[in-house]
Amino acid sequence: MAEKISAVKGMNDIAPPVSAHWEWLEEQLRGLMRRYGYRNLRTPIVEPTALFVRGLGQVTDIVEKEMYSFEDRLNGEQLTLRPENTAGVVRAAIEQSLTYDGGKRLYYMGPMFRHERPQRGRYRQFHQFGVEALGFAGPDVDAELIVLACDLWAALGLSGIALEINSLGQPHERLAHRASLIAYLEGHAEQLDEDARRRLHTNPLRILDTKNPLMQDLVNRAPRLMDHLGPESLHHFNRLRDLLDAHGIAYHINPRLVRGMDYYNLSVFEFVTTQLGSQGTVCAGGRYDGLFEQIGGKSVPAVGWALGMERILELLKEQGRLPVQPTPDAYAVVTDTGSLPRVMPVLRSLRQAGVSVQMHACGPEGMGSMKSQFKKADASGARFALIFGPSELEQGAVAIKSLRGPRAVADQGEAVQQLLKPLADVESWAATLTAI
Ligand code: ATP
Ligand code: MG
Repeated sequence: MAEKISAVKGMNDIAPPVSAHWEWLEEQLRGLMRRYGYRNLRTPIVEPTALFVRGLGQVTDIVEKEMYSFEDRLNGEQLTLRPENTAGVVRAAIEQSLTYDGGKRLYYMGPMFRHERPQRGRYRQFHQFGVEALGFAGPDVDAELIVLACDLWAALGLSGIALEINSLGQPHERLAHRASLIAYLEGHAEQLDEDARRRLHTNPLRILDTKNPLMQDLVNRAPRLMDHLGPESLHHFNRLRDLLDAHGIAYHINPRLVRGMDYYNLSVFEFVTTQLGSQGTVCAGGRYDGLFEQIGGKSVPAVGWALGMERILELLKEQGRLPVQPTPDAYAVVTDTGSLPRVMPVLRSLRQAGVSVQMHACGPEGMGSMKSQFKKADASGARFALIFGPSELEQGAVAIKSLRGPRAVADQGEAVQQLLKPLADVESWAATLTAI
């Protein structure tokens, strides 16, 4: 046998039955987007490396160590598999002039790539669903996005997801805070770990979000960005809070919530759960009013969030909220391969009429015994077996057997009618049905 080829580490196949969970989640998300008036934007998975370096910031975890970057062999261009999609959405919005006639509410869904250590809830190819509201400056849209996320948890039947919010103010306010933060941390240099020492002069704000237990005390007592915010930033934050209160949405103000990417300003937020171990952030986002200009467009205010689909699915599983697997309405049992030319078109008509039918497939030895066909029919989860035996075929009829619930087909009223109607519509298969 040839040597086996495995998938890339941290990149997973999504096969049945799990893929049905994904499809269900995607449907829920699309329904929510319809209700909130957000429209789909699809951008390429590969973007110029410069987009992320400029958009996310040079000293972010993603740009420093997580990107899958490569050179295009043909023209030497530096390219990167997208590690996130906000920068791509903004690039597309600039390139396609999407906001020329006012704000746009957009969403996307798809794979992202980060070179991280694979573990529960952390993969190298993972999937994000994200919403981006472009061209809206007010806290009303910040609130809309948070409310929308809360509606999603409700629609999915999820509980135990807590909301944390903070304000990062504006760049000049962050600069003032930065100076006092650096001075404070320098005063406690002996307590800084290696990561913090490295970031002290490049990205000190990120030190606040350290996971190192030995540094928690230090960062808890650090100067707060919130205390450096001017009246306008505070007003934006307080309006957001009022709107969340008006919806009865509970939140916790976390002054250490700073987010990984440089592009955020004003409102930032995360939805976290304690039920997924250390990968507890399921959804995160904020306002990024400076990003359009940073990647070469005119100034456009914007806000958005992204959720990790794997983490949401894991949480659904944890809380027993995954949907039951979809099963066919009917399974066709066919006794003889010779009858396939008559039977298959009937099954096709049923499907065209909206009935889902799985047909027993013949092997090299023919259709197989009735017993083995019924075993398969049962395993398919179908509600009914449609039996195309010699006597039925002779009469131009089909026998129906209930595989689930009440044994007698007669007791299954509406479900049987749904099958009978299309069957009756197929010429020469008039509804002479034997129920067994
Ligand atoms: P973390 O702190 O967990 O690394 P992050 O701040 O890097 O998260 P974002 O860039 O904000 O994450 O991405 C938004 C969401 O995407 C996260 O909240 C998480 O649910 C999900 N996510 C991020 N990285 C991964 C990954 N490597 N594998 C699976 N999901 C991920
Ligand atoms: Mg990360």
